Amino acid sequence: MAAQLSLGNRQITRILRSSSGRFEQISGIVPDVNSAAHRQAVLIGPNDLRVRTQTGGTPGAGELLITPDAVGVCGTDLELLAGTMGYLTDGGATYPIVPGHEWTGVVDSVGPGVNGFAIGDRVVGECSIGCGVCGVCAAGRYHLCPDRTETGILNRAGGMASTLVFPARAAHRLPPSVDPLDAALIEPLAVAYRGLHRLPAAPIGPIAIVGAGTIGLLCALAARAIGMGPVLLVEHHAARRRFSAGLGFDAVATVPHRFSQVIDATGTPSGTAAAVQGTADGGTIVVLGLCGRPSVPVDLDSLVLRDLAMVGSLGSPGVWPEVIDLVATGRVLPSTIVSHEFALDEATDAFTRARDADPATRKVVVRPQRSAASRQAASLQAATDPERPGTASW
Ligand SMILES: [Zn+2]
Ligand SMILES: [Zn+2]
Repeated sequence: MAAQLSLGNRQITRILRSSSGRFEQISGIVPDVNSAAHRQAVLIGPNDLRVRTQTGGTPGAGELLITPDAVGVCGTDLELLAGTMGYLTDGGATYPIVPGHEWTGVVDSVGPGVNGFAIGDRVVGECSIGCGVCGVCAAGRYHLCPDRTETGILNRAGGMASTLVFPARAAHRLPPSVDPLDAALIEPLAVAYRGLHRLPAAPIGPIAIVGAGTIGLLCALAARAIGMGPVLLVEHHAARRRFSAGLGFDAVATVPHRFSQVIDATGTPSGTAAAVQGTADGGTIVVLGLCGRPSVPVDLDSLVLRDLAMVGSLGSPGVWPEVIDLVATGRVLPSTIVSHEFALDEATDAFTRARDADPATRKVVVRPQRSAASRQAASLQAATDPERPGTASW
């Protein structure tokens, strides 16, 4: 068995109880986080993203050591790269930042006092992690805890790395059948799902979702899965409208009439203005995007004169079990919106693709356990295999 070991791997042995009730010993090979050369993407400052060597982590009490294998690049990551994200401008967050709040990985080891997790478990983790002891946390509003961290954003390293040390209390186990690409997008799906639930509980009716980017599409997929809607996507890019139509959604360039329930998933001042304009008297607008600007020209008088409710939505507190169930049961497969994957050493390419992409680019995902060489080989295969589209992504 020792002959199977190679540099960077190690053998593990676990005792498992089989379906017949017998205890059986199994062995396997996992990456050895203490011997391999570890890498992490680091935002050093505005427009300065580097990939550098990382020291292997050790889980402390209550913590997991995780091997991330799929990490989404999000609009918030691009704002961290640009230096415009609100936590940076108000001094809450500081560089260096290891990004990656949309991640999944496999448990490599568990720290003292951890229950409910074992080596080899596939997990995802929440972005907002409260202190767990203050009154705000006790009320379940841990995303607003004054001492919170936010994974990959605010005083906590994210998953765009070979290894991640993460508190078990903010992690969730997934069934092994869940694809890593679906798992990585559980975090933004949870943000979308929570945003939908910021709309009034009744009456249920048509929902206009302004912006058919990642969050807008995930809102649409979640709404359909849980019986909200019908949904109309409003998107000025024709390529995104075509993609939305391919998912079975109606998509138009401008809001055709006013809706009582509107989601602003654009993260742009003009998108927010269009969302307000497209909301019916007495209606509600949920704002899900950050536009990275100190002020946005919105006709505030119209909020009063037309009796509108404008609601922000931060993060995804309290919804993870429901959202994991949506994905684990296949009712929402968020990987359908992934358009590009990159190796960890190509993190700058991934950010560039996500930032400068044409509208046909959708979700960009970094795969920390894949090498750039294997990605290029797969791309070459994709380009030469007549059964597969000749694209540079995979
Ligand atoms: Zn995000
Ligand atoms: Zn707290």
